[in-house]
Amino acid sequence: MGKYIDTIRVLRSTGMGSSFYGPCELCRKNVSEMFVMQSKMLLMRNDGVMYESPVGGGTYGHRECLIGKFGDPEIERAGGDG
Ligand SMILES: [Zn+2]
Repeated sequence: MGKYIDTIRVLRSTGMGSSFYGPCELCRKNVSEMFVMQSKMLLMRNDGVMYESPVGGGTYGHRECLIGKFGDPEIERAGGDG
């Protein structure tokens, strides 16, 4: 466990929709492009390298639903497995 710096919200596109993930967790409607809002703790190792540790499993849904519920993310990522 490193030194705690901050907790940030990261919004990420999965690149896939409801056929893979099921409906939006917030409005229960189908999603053409599913986004994930994930809280992450920002930590610093003893050697000064920063890293992220996920808090909880994240919430899947429409970009608008996630921002409406959780607010604007500190970081937005296009996709991939970050
Ligand atoms: Zn929604």
